[in-house]
Amino acid sequence: MITPNMHYADLKNSYLFYNIGKKTKAYLEANPDKKLYRMGIGDVSLPLCESVIKALHEAVDDQAVKERFHGYMPEPGAPFLRATIGEYYRSRGVNVTDEEVFVSGGASDELGDILDLFDRSSSALVIEPAYPAYVDANVMAGRRIVHLASGIENGFLPEPSDEAKADILYICSPNNPTGAVFTREKLQKWVDFANSNGSVILFDAAYEAFIEDEGLPRSIFELEGAKTCAIEICSLSKTAGFTGTRLGYTVIPKALVRQGMCFNDMWVRNRTTKTNGVSYIIQKGGAAVFTPEGQKQIRENIGYYKENARLLMEALDELGIWYCGGKNSPYIWMKCPDGMGSWEFFDHLLKEIQVVGTPGEGFGACGEGYFRFSVFGSREDTIEAARRLKELLRQK
Ligand code: PLP
Repeated sequence: MITPNMHYADLKNSYLFYNIGKKTKAYLEANPDKKLYRMGIGDVSLPLCESVIKALHEAVDDQAVKERFHGYMPEPGAPFLRATIGEYYRSRGVNVTDEEVFVSGGASDELGDILDLFDRSSSALVIEPAYPAYVDANVMAGRRIVHLASGIENGFLPEPSDEAKADILYICSPNNPTGAVFTREKLQKWVDFANSNGSVILFDAAYEAFIEDEGLPRSIFELEGAKTCAIEICSLSKTAGFTGTRLGYTVIPKALVRQGMCFNDMWVRNRTTKTNGVSYIIQKGGAAVFTPEGQKQIRENIGYYKENARLLMEALDELGIWYCGGKNSPYIWMKCPDGMGSWEFFDHLLKEIQVVGTPGEGFGACGEGYFRFSVFGSREDTIEAARRLKELLRQK
């Protein structure tokens, strides 16, 4: 009889979004007249920008004409999009060649698939609280996971140490769920640590476009030595509203070599074996994001979300509540007041003011006592949620 991958039995059930869904449903059934203010969603609410829509339409029309029709696309990505993304890096002073850029169907797919490049006996470091897929993808492969807790004492940005030694190092900056962003100095320590141990950093830059403070690194390749120890995984999901359209990109430097194996060459081989490229239409839509008009339009949308963040931060500042994130990220990570647990605070907000967020405990044990707000909702709901938060928590 066939033996399934028994590591799936080691996966912990993810109760986070299931529980949130169950609790909100039960609340609405009991209180059908109430409206919920959903500040927990990680999905965007604004549509694709005009430039992208136009490019998508044009690409659809191309597919109707023999002379302009495209069949299979090159597996690592269309040359026009690899060049556009390469230029996006170079225009910011980051020296990335077009051959180092790979087009993907999104960061989630890539974060899972990229693990093919590493031996199953390799270990993976996950800095917690963390995006849950990092742990689960490695559990499925049977890898040993090193959990490194972060906390308020280091602003949820821990430094490398002996207990953080592992082969694969996940770093997410700006972070989901904490919104914390590594400074150059702090990130450089991880780059040096990876180089000296022969590890590889998987740098999740899904939220790089939300960084506004000059000097904060938007790409790990801004740092000295990163090309010999890092892979960067990006997404247009939050940057440009591609959550349902699906497009991302990954940078694998040619200089990333371990035991004579070049990871860039390996990934070309992997993609040509396991994919047939991302749709021409979607890649055309993605390229429009990087045009001057596209950049202007996505910046307007990001600005909209950032104003939501500002409104929530203003409320928390007024209340004197500790939080991080918000300024350079679409997430705000707050400390639950009065020593409340994160689910206790969730229930409290739901019952008293109908505001729904995400309990921090769902992102790892050290997230207990914290709560995440996302700013991807509507302005009207955010204004009302901020008002209700102030009213409720001021009474304390
Ligand atoms: N990485 C992080 C940190 C995320 O928060 C998300 C989505 O929420 C992803 C990756 C996945 O992005 P994509 O939509 O490109 O799969």
